[in-house]
Amino acid sequence: MKIESITVHPVIVKRQYGTVIAKEGGKAKNTVNRSHFFFFEVRTDNGLTGWGEVSDIPEEDLPKSDAEYVDTVRKFTVGRNPFDIQRMHHDFSQHFLVENSLWNYTRCAIDNAMYDLQGLACNRPVFDFFGGAVQRELRISWVAYIREDLNLIREEVQQKTRQGFDAFKLKVGVDIDLDEARLAAVRKITGPDASIKVDANEGWSVDEAPRYIRRLNKYDLAGVETPVPREDPRAIAAVRKQVDVPILEHVSSLDYGLALVKAGAVDAFNVATTGAGGLWPARQIVTLADSAGVGVLLGSTVELGPGTLAQLHFGATVPNLTLPNDLIGPGMYTADVLQKPLTYTNGRLHVPNRPGLGIAIDRAKLKQLAPKPVGAK
Ligand SMILES: [Mg+2]
Repeated sequence: MKIESITVHPVIVKRQYGTVIAKEGGKAKNTVNRSHFFFFEVRTDNGLTGWGEVSDIPEEDLPKSDAEYVDTVRKFTVGRNPFDIQRMHHDFSQHFLVENSLWNYTRCAIDNAMYDLQGLACNRPVFDFFGGAVQRELRISWVAYIREDLNLIREEVQQKTRQGFDAFKLKVGVDIDLDEARLAAVRKITGPDASIKVDANEGWSVDEAPRYIRRLNKYDLAGVETPVPREDPRAIAAVRKQVDVPILEHVSSLDYGLALVKAGAVDAFNVATTGAGGLWPARQIVTLADSAGVGVLLGSTVELGPGTLAQLHFGATVPNLTLPNDLIGPGMYTADVLQKPLTYTNGRLHVPNRPGLGIAIDRAKLKQLAPKPVGAK
């Protein structure tokens, strides 16, 4: 089996509301109203079609030239056997920095499409290629972004609680007084049993973080993500030593994961197929966490349906999932490209066992959200 051709479908989808997070130094990051995606339609010489998603590409990282981008993607796909995953990752990482989100997410989309094709070829769900599913349902923490109007956050959390969500993640880190007021409002709505994490997105200094975490922990935190700038694992470890709340950090490479473990910086890795560059590298990071006695939660780049399906197949195989997962894309976007969009049942997502990743694309939607396909062959 060989990959014969690839078509790149660009898509733009609006979010339910303009989302805001903190950035280093505690300033608000620009509001994100809509997200850019590429969908890879990858066909093989034996008539199979696999799909991969490049999720939520920051506007500043969009390719300068669509033609050049498609040409590069072709170089890493056409002519390859979809089972040659390891070689693809090796070749790809020789050419592109993993820190660049466009190329890292692109690698993930190629990886996802190759696994989708493997599953279709073998008539098996992708989680079977990673040791099989240890769970078929993932608990999701609804992510509430920074909004100054407390009524908006109350409305959002009330609605999600009514839908059955019992886990939340609050974006914080711009204004500690507002953060505390938001957290108090959320805890009042959810009651004492809900799991609530906060994510400061590097918004606090090493000096501020322990004080702020203790202050917010009055409302019983399940974890604090990215309290301080993440470059220095020793700084994160210094914060961790002073508080009694699990510390979580995004891990997108084995090197960084190892550095966190050595520094004793975290209680859990936040791992996502998108951030890690695909199912193959994400699974390696989870194995590192497992061997180091560190927990895992699934992070998110806010994927649409196909990207979320890849994350679900990955999550199904993770034995050390210790916290609820951030897969909120299907609830955050106003449209999707799946024939049957994913839905939450009591705040959970179900992992399908259809062959491959189980992606059935609605071509009318793909067209509607992306009037100009790039690189159709
Ligand atoms: Mg985060």
